[in-house]
Amino acid sequence: MMKSRKKSIWVFGDYRNYYQNRVTLQLLSKAVDLASVIDAEVCALVVGHEIEEWIMEYTAHGADRILAIDHPSLESYSTEHYLALVEKLARERNPDILLIGATDFGREFAPRLAKRLGTGLSADCVGLDMTPEGLLVQVAPSFGGNMLAEIVTEEHRPQMATVRPGTFKEIPHNAERTAVVERLPLPEDLPVPRVRVIEYERAAERDHTIENATVIVCGGRGMGNKNNFKKLDDLAALLGGDVGATRPVVYAGWAGHDALVGQAGKHIKPKILFSFGISGAIQHTAGLGEADFIVAINKNPQATMMKMADVAVTADAADLLNHLIRELKKRIRD
Ligand SMILES: Cc1cc2nc3c(=O)[nH]c(=O)nc-3n(C[C@H](O)[C@H](O)[C@H](O)COP(=O)(O)OP(=O)(O)OC[C@H]3O[C@@H](n4cnc5c(N)ncnc54)[C@H](O)[C@@H]3O)c2cc1C
Repeated sequence: MMKSRKKSIWVFGDYRNYYQNRVTLQLLSKAVDLASVIDAEVCALVVGHEIEEWIMEYTAHGADRILAIDHPSLESYSTEHYLALVEKLARERNPDILLIGATDFGREFAPRLAKRLGTGLSADCVGLDMTPEGLLVQVAPSFGGNMLAEIVTEEHRPQMATVRPGTFKEIPHNAERTAVVERLPLPEDLPVPRVRVIEYERAAERDHTIENATVIVCGGRGMGNKNNFKKLDDLAALLGGDVGATRPVVYAGWAGHDALVGQAGKHIKPKILFSFGISGAIQHTAGLGEADFIVAINKNPQATMMKMADVAVTADAADLLNHLIRELKKRIRD
């Protein structure tokens, strides 16, 4: 009797940008969860040049197998080269699932790859689940973001999804982990790229982003005006955290787009989240799935945000904020 092939879940290694590289770790962590349901192997694809660091990183974060192609011609991202490589590998090895971060890179790469492989793609997923039969449930915003759809790819393989950074928590780095590393040669029949990369410049790196902050002070329209909103910075500074915002606040110019939390913005996973004057619309709360503890402040005790909070304080948001800042400063002084 022929031995049946072990199922495999592939995660595309997107490591080119410091901010984006965390999404690969988050996907590896989720892939480990999904793989346990169907007894599959988690495989990371690492394509590029001088990629040892990423091979070690993905091994330490959950990959069972690494498919690595290291070649100087892969140093700069070329859609044509990368597509040809991954298409070839996928056709040879038939992964069951292929996950890609919804970064600028992933958003360009994944739809083209899905088209070449003749399979479906759920873009910008905000959740993933696995049925015992091995169907990947891809949770994606749809109808302009007013609904979350659960999508399955019943017939075609691989089942493909891009996933927003911040949707899942990465598992802690474990340097003791080992993986099978397959170092593959660069295929000879790659197309000659029609695009020539003249220069590649890495974006300036920041210490942290709101997606990996452990304390977040988030404000909404209930803050009343820009001056009140700006005081959230003071509370965040006192608590060693970051400031987040809802969409109306970003549109009003009280906060930058970087601070937007929710379906159209960042997915956050703080240990503690303070939510000031926020109603709790689904498009906002879609970004809060991983917050450990929520304190909501709202003048309306019936607001959705108050119902989903661990601690709900019925109060004027700006008044309570001022009070908290005063109190914390006093305690620091004393
Ligand atoms: C396609 C699409 C995508 C979207 N994506 C996002 C997204 O990514 N992120 C996002 O945030 N939104 C998003 N939205 C908008 C979302 O639907 C809501 O409109 C938005 O989240 C509401 O923001 P808010 O809670 O600040 O404002 P409101 O809904 O107006 O709520 C204000 C809250 O403040 C309270 N309040 C008022 N005055 C005070 C006071 N003095 N003291 C205390 N509380 C007070 C009110 O009781 C209320 O609960 C999206 C919408 C669409 C259609």
